[in-house]
Amino acid sequence: MRCARIAAVLGVVGGLSLVATSSPARAASANVAALQVALKALGLYPSAIDGISGRLTRGGLRRFQRHKRLVVDGIAGPRTRHALGRRGRPRLGSRPMSSGRRGWDVAALQFLLHVRGYGPGGFDGGFGPNTRRAVVRFQRAAGLAVDGVAGPSTLRALRHRTSSGVPSGPVRFLRPIPGQITDGFGWVGGRRHTGVDIPAPEGTPVGAAGRGVVAFAGWNDGGYGNLVVVKHRLGFESWYAHLSRIAASEGEAVVGGTRIGYVGSTGHATGPHLHFEVRHFGTPIDPVPRLLLSAEPDRPLTCRPNADAWGTRDSDPFVARFGRCP
Ligand SMILES: [Zn+2]
Repeated sequence: MRCARIAAVLGVVGGLSLVATSSPARAASANVAALQVALKALGLYPSAIDGISGRLTRGGLRRFQRHKRLVVDGIAGPRTRHALGRRGRPRLGSRPMSSGRRGWDVAALQFLLHVRGYGPGGFDGGFGPNTRRAVVRFQRAAGLAVDGVAGPSTLRALRHRTSSGVPSGPVRFLRPIPGQITDGFGWVGGRRHTGVDIPAPEGTPVGAAGRGVVAFAGWNDGGYGNLVVVKHRLGFESWYAHLSRIAASEGEAVVGGTRIGYVGSTGHATGPHLHFEVRHFGTPIDPVPRLLLSAEPDRPLTCRPNADAWGTRDSDPFVARFGRCP
């Protein structure tokens, strides 16, 4: 089974085309993020690290260049990066990153992790315990060797996953219930988890993740148990599985937060949790980059007893089947 891919939408992540020229696509770039981190540390960038080269980023860069008597071109070329000192180097990918490392590449790494939903909790260009934990979580989720060192294979996976996982359209979702994601989306141990799992007490109300129409509300024999599927615009669907009780009916219009059911453990589930899935034209995609509130897993992404929906891609809610945890 192949990993679902959305058309790549990220431009220069990891590339050397250094930022800060006006980018018509306004694509988020890890290198722009690293520049923002460096400028912020110098008090020259007052805004959020978003990897997008906007007016504030370019303005901060120009001020820096003026101050350093460099050519004021708003481009973070070799001289400018040299002038940034430790924050301007080394280039992303030029060395394996591990605990204790600092610099441009670590800031870029932190941004890549963040975009993938494994944010270390901030961007400071220093590889500390939080960054290490984030790398470990990502490596586990991606089925890589788990060593907490961001070397070539981890970077490759981050870049690849970034280009496939960053939302390209306007659709975003609310988290259907509060709580931490324990099992993430994607490949683990050769199987593919088609959604994310959020453990919660039985009976926790589940809210629709966004505006749409209930397309399915009923029992699924394949392992999803009590299942609600909401159809959204632009080919998106959200799936809510293992519900103890369904509180929505087919054809009902919902908005974000409309109660559609309650957390349970029906179907293939050994404990109460919500299995939340987002599909785009029938193909499960990683919901995390589209969630409006941060979704930080704080537990290892392994195949746990309540892991489910491994490898299924059936888009018919009546017959869709869960795989089983290996
Ligand atoms: Zn699941």
